[in-house]
Amino acid sequence: MTSVQTRHALETRALDHLWMHSNDLEWDDLQEGGLRVFSRGHGSTLIDVHGAEYIDGLAGLFVVAAGHGRTEIGEAMAHQAGEIAYTAASNAANPVNIALAEKISSLTPGDLNRVFLCSGGSEAVESAMKIAKQVQVMRGHGKRYKIIARRGSYHGTTFGAASLTGSASEKYFGPFMPGVSKVPNPNQYRNDFGLDGEAGDIMCARFVEQEILTQGPENVAAVIGEPISVANGTHLPSPIYWQMLRDICDRYGVLLIMDEVITGWGRTGKWFAAEHYGVVPDIMTMAKGLSSGYAPVAAVAVRSSIFDDFRPTGQALNHLITFGGHAVAAAAALKNIEILERENLVQRSAEMGTYLYDLAQKLRSHPTVGDVRGGLGLLCAIDFVKNKDTREAWGTSHPFIKFLALRTQEEGLVTRVWDVLHLAPPFVLTRDEAERAIDIVDRCLTEAEAKFADEIQ
Ligand code: PLP
Repeated sequence: MTSVQTRHALETRALDHLWMHSNDLEWDDLQEGGLRVFSRGHGSTLIDVHGAEYIDGLAGLFVVAAGHGRTEIGEAMAHQAGEIAYTAASNAANPVNIALAEKISSLTPGDLNRVFLCSGGSEAVESAMKIAKQVQVMRGHGKRYKIIARRGSYHGTTFGAASLTGSASEKYFGPFMPGVSKVPNPNQYRNDFGLDGEAGDIMCARFVEQEILTQGPENVAAVIGEPISVANGTHLPSPIYWQMLRDICDRYGVLLIMDEVITGWGRTGKWFAAEHYGVVPDIMTMAKGLSSGYAPVAAVAVRSSIFDDFRPTGQALNHLITFGGHAVAAAAALKNIEILERENLVQRSAEMGTYLYDLAQKLRSHPTVGDVRGGLGLLCAIDFVKNKDTREAWGTSHPFIKFLALRTQEEGLVTRVWDVLHLAPPFVLTRDEAERAIDIVDRCLTEAEAKFADEIQ
C-alpha cells in the first residue's frame, strides 16, 4: 500500500470505527470531507496526514494553551511514569499531585486553597455540584439540594452536568436531574428585556435572586455559571453582574460556583476570568488549559472557609474518581503551568487577544456580521445574522453556517462555527497567523454571502 493510500485509509478507518463526539458537524458532514486526521502539530499549527497545514483557531477545543509539540511536557510525563504513574485517589497521594494542588492554590484568587483533582471538565462540574451539596448537609442545611444554572450555558456532558446545561439534548436523555432551575444568561446583544449594556446584566442578576426566593433559600445549594459563557456566544458580562451574584449568594447562604473550564488558565488574559470581575467564588472548576491537553486533568478549587465548615464533621467527601490525581497527568499539568509562567503566556494571551479582536472588527462591514465580541484574552466570537436590524440568527444547522464551517477548514482554519464563529487559538499564536485567520473568515464570508444572497435581508 502506498503512503497516500495509507493516509486515505486513516480517514475511512476513522469513519468506520470511531464514534465521533457531538460537534458542530453532523455525521453526514464528516463524511462529506469535514473530518480531518491530524498527525502532527507545532505552536498554533496543525498538520494533517496529507501534509496540509491549518491554523488551530480553537486550540483543539479551547484546550492547547501552550501550543502543540511541547516535547518537554512529554518528557516530564515519561519521567513521572518511570517513577510512579498511579496512586489511589482516596487514601494516598504522590509528590506531583501534592505539588499540583499547591500550585493551583497559589494561582487561584482568594482562599481557593483546597483542591480536588479529576480528569475532565464534566467530572469537575459533577464534583463541584456534589461538594456544594455535601457542604450544605455538613452545615446542617440538608434540605438545600437545588441548583440554579443559566439558560444557554454549557457545563458538560455527564448527567448532572448536562442537567445544568441547555435543553438541546433533553429530547434524547430527559428527564434530567430534578432540582435544577434556569435563569437568563447575560447577553447584551440579544436579550428578552430589550435592555442594553449593564442594565440587561443587572436584570439577569435580579433573576438569580428572584429564583432563589421562588425556590426558597432554604432549598438552594448553589448557583453555577461560567464567568464568560462561550456556549451562550461569548457575551462578556459587566463586572456588576458577578459582583451582584456574589452578594446575592452571600445574602442567602447559597454557594457560588464559577465554571472556569474554558476561561481558566489564561484564556481570558488573566489566570482566571473571576479576576476580571473582582469576585472569589466558593467553588471553581477548571480543566482544558490546565494541562494544555497533554493529559486529561481537571480540578475543583474550593475556598478554605468552605472546607473549614466541612472539616469539623470528621467526614470525608463522599465522592471518589479512580483517576483523580493521576501522577502522570499531574506532571503534565505542572510542566504546562511552568511553561505558561516561564514564557509569560497569560500576558501573551491578553496582548494577542486584543490584536485578534481589533483585526476582527473589520468583519463588521459584512452584511451578515451582527457583532464581534471578545477583547479579554484569546476568546473572540463573530456573530452571524440574516438581518442586522432584527439581529435574526441563521440557526446552527442552516446551510450558510455549514458552508462557512467547511470552507474555513478547507482554507486552512480549524475553528467552530455555530451561530457564532469562535476563535480561541493557542497563546503562542503569531501576528501573521492572526491576520491569516481573519483573512480566511473574511474571504469565506464573502463567498457565503454571494451563495446565500437571496436570504440576506
Ligand atoms: N464546563 C464548561 C464551561 C465547558 O466549556 C466544558 C466543555 O467544553 C465542560 C464544562 C465540560 O468539559 P469536558 O468536555 O472536559 O467534560
